[in-house]
Amino acid sequence: MTKNNITFLLICLISLSACKSTSEIISNNTAASKNTVNVEMNSQQAVIWQQTSAEYVALCHQAFNAAKKQLNYYNDFGSSDKPPIIVMDIDETVLDNSPYNGYLTLNNKEYSEASWRKWTSLSQAEAIPGAVKFIEYASVTGIPIYYISNRSDEDLQTTIQNMIDLGLPVNQDNFFLKQEGFTKSSIRDGLSKQFEIILSIGDNLADFEEVYERQLGLKERKDIANSMGNQFGNKYIILPNVMYGGWRDALENGEPSGVPQTDKEGDTKFLRSFDIDQAN
Ligand SMILES: [Mg+2]
Repeated sequence: MTKNNITFLLICLISLSACKSTSEIISNNTAASKNTVNVEMNSQQAVIWQQTSAEYVALCHQAFNAAKKQLNYYNDFGSSDKPPIIVMDIDETVLDNSPYNGYLTLNNKEYSEASWRKWTSLSQAEAIPGAVKFIEYASVTGIPIYYISNRSDEDLQTTIQNMIDLGLPVNQDNFFLKQEGFTKSSIRDGLSKQFEIILSIGDNLADFEEVYERQLGLKERKDIANSMGNQFGNKYIILPNVMYGGWRDALENGEPSGVPQTDKEGDTKFLRSFDIDQAN
């Protein structure tokens, strides 16, 4: 943690005090987002699709092409009283952790902080398709990227090393990894006091909006996504991730509205089906 980051985090703490109850909810939820990863969640199909499909590659490029357009639009027509910045997530946005998920599913293991930390300490993650090119492009335009990640702050150096090994331009002061009392949204709020966030890039809706750090029902999650539909492909750029994320946590956490939690029946109870055998 650099001096600049410490100063910034102190500012965040002050702004956080006004919304402590929300923060507690967020904190619990973000912790759960890693801890509830189970074998089901790391289904082989999910990992195989992400690792082998050209469609996944195409979707990632599509996302970063949209990000580049938004960046160019700002440079051509945008203006702000504050310096512009880009905010990016790291996992499944810049770094591909599918080998870790492959390890889990092949060995019938559940996520654990120990195994995850071992993976991140190796600095072996490859880049998400299109990420390196976009980050290099942003660097040339002079608009800085700030990385906000739920990786442990103790993983800062190995994360930076991984990104340096991929040839990425890196400024250590621009990394905000997970620390007690802070959430992605609180860090974004802190940054917004000083900068104009012109673009947010991530694989999880909590990378964009605070509301997705709360425990929401499945329908509520989708309704909110629909209500902010105009943002996607513009200010918000989302990468595909079928291996894990807030969508999966919503199943794991069950539904306050009464939709049952996952159990021995697995996730099939969440499937929507039409009984064509009974149709005329
Ligand atoms: Mg991510």
